[in-house]
Amino acid sequence: MFDRETKSIFINGKWRETESGKTDTVYNPATLEPITGVTYGGEQETQDAIMDAKEAFKTWSTITGRERSRVLYKAHELMLEDVDRLGEILTTEQGKPLKEAKGEIKGAASFLLWYAEEASRAYGEWIPSSIKSKRMLVIPQPVGVVGAITPWNFPSSMITRKIAPALAAGCTVVLKPAPETPLSALEIVKILERAGLPQGVVNLVTGDAKAIGTTLLKSRDVKLITFTGSTEVGKYLMRESADHVKKLSLELGGHAPILVFDDADLETAATLALASKFRNNGQTCICANRIYVHESVKDQFTEVLTKKVNNLKIGYGLEEDTDLGPLINEQASQKVEKHLDDAITKGANVVTGGKKWDGDLKGYFYYPTVLADVSDDMVIMHEETFGPLMPIQTFTDEDTAIKKANDTDYGLAAYIFTETTSRAIRVSEKLEYGIVGVNDVFPAVAEAPFGGIKQSGIGKEGGHHGMHEFLEMKYVSMGIK
Ligand code: ADP
Repeated sequence: MFDRETKSIFINGKWRETESGKTDTVYNPATLEPITGVTYGGEQETQDAIMDAKEAFKTWSTITGRERSRVLYKAHELMLEDVDRLGEILTTEQGKPLKEAKGEIKGAASFLLWYAEEASRAYGEWIPSSIKSKRMLVIPQPVGVVGAITPWNFPSSMITRKIAPALAAGCTVVLKPAPETPLSALEIVKILERAGLPQGVVNLVTGDAKAIGTTLLKSRDVKLITFTGSTEVGKYLMRESADHVKKLSLELGGHAPILVFDDADLETAATLALASKFRNNGQTCICANRIYVHESVKDQFTEVLTKKVNNLKIGYGLEEDTDLGPLINEQASQKVEKHLDDAITKGANVVTGGKKWDGDLKGYFYYPTVLADVSDDMVIMHEETFGPLMPIQTFTDEDTAIKKANDTDYGLAAYIFTETTSRAIRVSEKLEYGIVGVNDVFPAVAEAPFGGIKQSGIGKEGGHHGMHEFLEMKYVSMGIK
């Protein structure tokens, strides 16, 4: 399926190597075997990519939205035609089960479709003037060259969620995918190429994250950085963007609480809590990090949940019945271990799981774990684990549950399970999060605004809101005779 080496830098419509010929090995996280070596670029390649994106912007930004949407429609079609192969590539480099990988590819394609539709809907404004001799209008214009930096946990959908609105708005892009998962990025660029995207409009640079990032940040020609990743790197990008007052769109970490009230449908709550926590093996920024269950239903909820958790099948993602794949790498595994040890030392009880998988694959696999008797001083209750650990705490009144849910610097997603509408609305309003799921844990869709508050980010992705990030609103004030 893969060559020993893959050219993965795409600049001005051409696949390139670097002069040094240096490559970076991509590993299969399930087997720890090398898949291929991809081109290891840095400052020079990024600089070239920025220049080409700048040149391409002159044309791409001035054609009509309709013309831009044609490419996006075509790319959407091509992506859906190739779901099976793209899903396999994604699973091979990222580890998630094939059914999740195919779901991600379909999700990734849905952003292409949504922004193909939005491309012709970048409306401006005509402002009724308070002065008789003046007219005021607002015209949306693309911000310019965009630097897009994406993570490994959703190697495909995080790219189209950024690139599709950028292209729809008329921006051009320099994309830097995560070094762990460049192959899905490469496939997306090939799809755009086949869909007829003019050269230079999307450029791909793989390699030295720091060097590529610094070049994007230091360039006066890059007008916006759109990033999904850790809060730590997000803060760094914010600091370094200050010199040029670059626009930023940041999707950072989260620490999502799930509140299960005593009037919840417990079967649904358990099924969805599990889906939220163990999807992508807990390596999702909106996945449940803390479960707060009403004291009166704790035993029943834990029992239903644990039965379901024990039915999850760990294994190689390419095998059809796998539910849980490996963690992405050793560091991820060490973090899970650290959080688990800390919780146990401080008195948590392991209801199920709590150890490394003893299967025959070499990757970093963990049993899905449920923890009870969890206290607020445990690291797991404050830091993002990014792994399959589910701590459960109880509460007895709504106000305390909300207070606990809000007691974090993160503000990405929170979830409520209740069958009472007034409670659903009341609690949603009080939760300090950018996204609230009510009896739902899959809020990320192309047509709705996804984004965090507090230290979880700035800006929105998805919906018509997602395209606004890539548009400047120019105000034109006209005196008339
Ligand atoms: P994660 O913990 O999910 O790997 P990171 O924030 O480390 O999150 O990585 C997300 C993306 O940011 C990846 O593409 C990574 O290569 C990139 N990245 C990491 N450090 C830097 C940096 N200093 N400058 C630019 N990009 C970076």
